[in-house]
Amino acid sequence: MEETTKRAALVTGSSRGIGRAVAERLAADGFDVCVNCSSEAGLPAAQELADALAAAHGVRAMALAANVADPAAATALVEGAFEAFGRLDVLVNNAGITRDGLLARMKDEDFDAVIDVNLKGTFNCCRAAAQRMMKQRYGRIVNVSSVVGVAGNAGQANYAASKAGVIGLTKAIAKELAGRNITANAVAPGFIETDMTDALSEKQRAAITERIASKRLGAPEDVAALVAFLAREEAGYVTGQVVCVDGGMSL
Ligand code: NAP
Repeated sequence: MEETTKRAALVTGSSRGIGRAVAERLAADGFDVCVNCSSEAGLPAAQELADALAAAHGVRAMALAANVADPAAATALVEGAFEAFGRLDVLVNNAGITRDGLLARMKDEDFDAVIDVNLKGTFNCCRAAAQRMMKQRYGRIVNVSSVVGVAGNAGQANYAASKAGVIGLTKAIAKELAGRNITANAVAPGFIETDMTDALSEKQRAAITERIASKRLGAPEDVAALVAFLAREEAGYVTGQVVCVDGGMSL
């Protein structure tokens, strides 16, 4: 599926997992792509991915390290992508972390860290990108939430709050930006096989699989396919939505 004219994308947290699959899919769809990782340590791998995308798909691709929780770094990231490509059509806010624990024992720093990356980081990038997109009168923002942000999950008060916050943020900015031809949607993955879910024991994995109508955990590519649709020009009448990609787990 070759995208036509609107073709520069930034995917936060795209050095691994779901973000990487999204970057790969958008490049395959013809987008120039900016790959992002949280720190300089991840930059060689992120640059390797960018080089591979450019070689495989004939697009422009670059890598930038930035901690999205830091407003100045997030703004520099968005501006870096805009300057490199001369426009910014798609922002995928995918960077995210977990610091799981039961409520009674959850440390302040674990609550704050998760909110700072998952929610504030999404806000930081949306704010910076919206300024460019409003001038362009075009944009597609896709925020990665979670089914946990919709339904909650024991042991993830911080993560659930951050992902529910992402949904509220998405709906608010969808209303604010729609008049400028900018959409904002949230995707809510279920259990997807990445480093984030690697820690699950075989027993936990079997119990989770049993709850999923499709009887399998998701792959990063399952999420990327949905993000790729919402990133397209033709998805312009879809905004403010939360779309689950969970194999029917939340049914
Ligand atoms: P992952 O494999 O742990 O990868 C996380 C990515 O985010 C990495 O590229 C990481 O970069 C980046 N990142 C972390 N903190 C960052 C920061 N402060 N600034 C910039 N980048 C940062 O995670 P994943 O499973 O692919 O999850 C991706 C997104 O999907 C997250 O928002 C997550 O909450 C959401 N999600 C995942 C699942 C699941 O089952 N896996 C389910 C629902 C939602 P570094 O390599 O530099 O650390």
